[in-house]
Amino acid sequence: MTGRRLKVALFEAAAPGRGDVFGSERLSLLAGDLRAGGHRASVHVLGLGPTTEAVSFSRWLAADPFARRCDAVVFYRTVPPELLEALRRVNPSCRVLLFESGRPFKAPAWLETVPSGRLAALRRLERPRSAAPIPEPALYVPADLPFSPVLERVSIGRSSGSGRRAGVPELLGRLGCPYRKSVGLNPAFRGVKLGGRVFLDRGCSMCLFRTAGGSRASEADWTGSILRQLRWLLRLRPAPGRLRLCDHAPLDFLGPLLSRLRAEGFRGLTLAVDPRVDQLLSRRVDWAGLTREARSSGTRLDFTCVGFENFSQPELDRLNKGTTVAQNIAALRFLRGLRAAAPDVFTHESAAAGFILFTPWTTLRDLETNLRLLRALDFHEFRRDLAAARLRLYPELPVYHLAARDGLLLDSAPEGWALGSGYAADHPWRFASGRTEAAYAAVRRTAEAGGRFGDDLAALELALRQARARRPAA
Ligand code: SF4
Repeated sequence: MTGRRLKVALFEAAAPGRGDVFGSERLSLLAGDLRAGGHRASVHVLGLGPTTEAVSFSRWLAADPFARRCDAVVFYRTVPPELLEALRRVNPSCRVLLFESGRPFKAPAWLETVPSGRLAALRRLERPRSAAPIPEPALYVPADLPFSPVLERVSIGRSSGSGRRAGVPELLGRLGCPYRKSVGLNPAFRGVKLGGRVFLDRGCSMCLFRTAGGSRASEADWTGSILRQLRWLLRLRPAPGRLRLCDHAPLDFLGPLLSRLRAEGFRGLTLAVDPRVDQLLSRRVDWAGLTREARSSGTRLDFTCVGFENFSQPELDRLNKGTTVAQNIAALRFLRGLRAAAPDVFTHESAAAGFILFTPWTTLRDLETNLRLLRALDFHEFRRDLAAARLRLYPELPVYHLAARDGLLLDSAPEGWALGSGYAADHPWRFASGRTEAAYAAVRRTAEAGGRFGDDLAALELALRQARARRPAA
C-alpha cells in the first residue's frame, strides 16, 4: 500500500430483466485488493434503466456521506455521462475510473480508463502519477496474490434489486489472450498509425480483452487457480447454475481440469467456454477424452460465446481474426456434431456467439454473403440477436484507427444511434456505403419493433433488394 488510505466506491450496473453473460468477479476482486491494501472500498449495484440511474445515483450522492468524501469512484464496463456530471458537482476532487472498458465517446479528460487488469487498476488508484508499465501476472487469480473478492453489494435504485447482481459467475483463467497476430502487418491496415504500441498492434482489431500482459501459465497453476475459485464459489452458492470459464484458449487445459473435477467430486456443473474457432478445429484437442472426462463428472460444456464474428472474408480480415469463412463454417458444423454425438455433455444453448454484421466498411456483397450463410447454417441456434450486431469503436482498438484513416468517424451520434447499448458509449461512425446505411436502418427498425431472428433476416433481405435497386450516391 502507498502511504495514504483511500476511500473508494465501486459501481456495477444491472439491467433488470436482461440476461447478462458477464459476471462481475473482476470488480469484486479489485475491491478485495483495495481492502487487502488497507483501503476502504464498498461495492454498489446501480439499476440501469432509461431514467432511474441518474436519479438513484444523485440520491446516493445526496444521502451518503461516503459519496461526498470518497477519493475515487470506479465504474465497471459502463458509465452514463449524467452520472459523471452529478459526481463532479458534489465531489469535484474525486477521481473517476472506468474499469474493463474502452474510453467512452466524448468522455471528459479527467475520466481515467483501465481496459483490463486488476493490478493495473489498483496501481492506477494508488499511484496516480506513476507512468511505469504494470506487469500483470499471467493468471487473473495467481497463487501469490490475495484472493478475497468482495461480494456484498449496496443496492442503489429500485430496479437494481438487492444483494449480488444476477450475472453468470466467472471463473477467471489467463488474463492475456494468446492470440497475438500482428495488426500492423495486416495489409488492410497499411498506412494506419498504431503508434507502435503493443496494446494496439496484437490480436483481433476490435477486441478490448487484449493486454500486453503475458498469457503463459502452467497447466498445474491454471487448474489450481480455477479450482481455488470454484471451491470458494460453491461454498457461497452450492447450485451456481452455469459458470463462465473466462480464458481465451480454454481447451489448452480443459481436459486436466475435467479430470480434477472428477477426482475431487465436483458433479453436475455447466461450464460455458469460448475457444477461438481455430482452437475448436485443432487436431491437438482430444475430444473423445474430453467427452469421457466431462461425462464421468456430469459436467456440461456450453460453447456459448465462440467468436465467429462474420461470414465474409474481407470483414474477418479487417477484424484481424486470423480465421477464414471456411473455418467458421467447419467450426459451427463441428459444434453441432459434438452436440448430436453427446447431447448430455455438449450444448450451445445460450446462443450468444460473437457476431458483428455491420462495420463501417460493410458492403452489400458482404451482407448478401452473410445472409445466405446465416440462413443455410441456421445460425440462430448460436446467436439470437443479430440486428444489434454493430461494431463498437473505442480509441484503444486498431479498428478505430482504421475508421479514422478512412474518414468514417463522426463527431456526433446520428439519429437512432444507441450509444454503447449496454457498454460504454462507443464512438459513432458512418458507413462508407450509403446503400449499406439504408440496409442497416431497415434491419434496426425491425429489431426495435420487436422482430425476432427470422424477421430481421427477412428485413435484411428486403433491404438488400431495395438497396440494390437504388442508384449509388454520386
Ligand atoms: S477476440 Fe478473442 S481471440 Fe481475439 S484478441 Fe480478443 S480474446 Fe483474443
